[in-house]
Amino acid sequence: MADRQPATKKDAPETRSSKLRIRIGYGWDSHEFKRGIPLRLGGVTLPHPRGLGGHSDGDVLLHAITDALLGAVAAPDIGTLFSPSDSRWKGADSAIFLAEALKRVREAGYALAKLDSTLILAMPKIAPHSAHIRARVAELLGLPADCVGVKGKTPEGMGTDDAAIAHAVVLLEKKISRG
Ligand SMILES: [Zn+2]
Repeated sequence: MADRQPATKKDAPETRSSKLRIRIGYGWDSHEFKRGIPLRLGGVTLPHPRGLGGHSDGDVLLHAITDALLGAVAAPDIGTLFSPSDSRWKGADSAIFLAEALKRVREAGYALAKLDSTLILAMPKIAPHSAHIRARVAELLGLPADCVGVKGKTPEGMGTDDAAIAHAVVLLEKKISRG
């Protein structure tokens, strides 16, 4: 659905885009709550009677971060790389998708410098778990925890109490060329 610019191939000649010193990326995702499955957020399993259905383990935060990283280097999005209709990804750990996105960032000559994210869900409250989630996301991204923002918001007046929504922005820095 996104109106994309032509993809930048990793072996393509230098383009205006590939000369940029910094790049930003933005990702968004939502999943519906379902009973009887674990709730995974930011690579952490939270105690809650309902989890998030849909693609893989339903980790809406990791999916938004993955799309932010992919978007920053103009790579195909998560749904294109890991089709929800492919049975290989049913129940899969979303850390797999994040690792692929980080690999593409490295191949494009960039390093992740900063992530900020917002989770929007009615229940459970994120505040008691935010330090744990931040630490796990930082570990998955290879960043210090103070370069990872994870904020929890409640969706007041939005009518989205049966869903979890995540927004993520990333800042990439061009790696110093070794010759
Ligand atoms: Zn998703």
